[in-house]
Amino acid sequence: MQVFIVGAGPGDPELITVKGQRLLKEADVIIYAGSLVNPDVLKVAGKDAEIYNSATMTLPEVIDKITESVEQGKMVVRLHTGDPAIYGAIQEQMDELKKRNIEFEVVPGVSSFLATAAALKQEYTLPDISQTIIITRDEGRTPVPKRESLKSLAAHQATMCIFLSVHMIEDVVKELIAGGYDKTTPIAIVHKATWPDQKVIRATLETIAEKVKAENITRTAMIVVGRCLETDYSLSRLYAPEFSHMFRAASK
Ligand code: SAH
Repeated sequence: MQVFIVGAGPGDPELITVKGQRLLKEADVIIYAGSLVNPDVLKVAGKDAEIYNSATMTLPEVIDKITESVEQGKMVVRLHTGDPAIYGAIQEQMDELKKRNIEFEVVPGVSSFLATAAALKQEYTLPDISQTIIITRDEGRTPVPKRESLKSLAAHQATMCIFLSVHMIEDVVKELIAGGYDKTTPIAIVHKATWPDQKVIRATLETIAEKVKAENITRTAMIVVGRCLETDYSLSRLYAPEFSHMFRAASK
């Protein structure tokens, strides 16, 4: 195996997987998504590794670089932020590699929506509040199918993690309220979760846009909405004394 599509994690260089870091150390060629990957993650790269920033490259250029490197017998890491499967634009790369009969492996990473939960010290799946997480985005230049509009997803009142949308916070709020969230619903925004300059903003749907503007946050931020951000919830059954399960009998 010569080609690895690797999740870099959300920012903190210690949040890449052990496997991902080993591959980075061994790689002859690294193509990283420079707009989001923390360059500190690349510090483990070998001193002779060729490093390319895909932010300034097109899909054909990325694929050509991978193909050429494989032909020269080199090992390639294509490094994406968070987990590559989420808004990573990797499908088109994988399909091109398949067309060229280039084998590859995907190594998962810690997605930013999970790094955000850690930053907030928050569980997303609280009993009686929500047992569902919706991962989505507002419509920007990439179209979102109409049936998945924020307004229609809001109807579920689940915990929502909204990517790629902080620059449209006013529209996000408008859609969520139109979809049924009360304007007092808590919302949190984490800018650059796990980076040294991480910022957390907590507010309600009514007050968030103003705070985001005041902090001048326009990118690399996760929006979390839902009543899990309030403190009132039922305790989990898993650790309830009277609750038996496969690994523990109920105590009297
Ligand atoms: N594959 C990535 C997402 C890429 S899309 C992942 O799994 O996290 C880019 C979006 O991810 C950004 O607009 C932002 O919404 C979110 N994001 C990426 N890194 C982040 C971080 N450190 N903190 C908060 N949000 C982040």
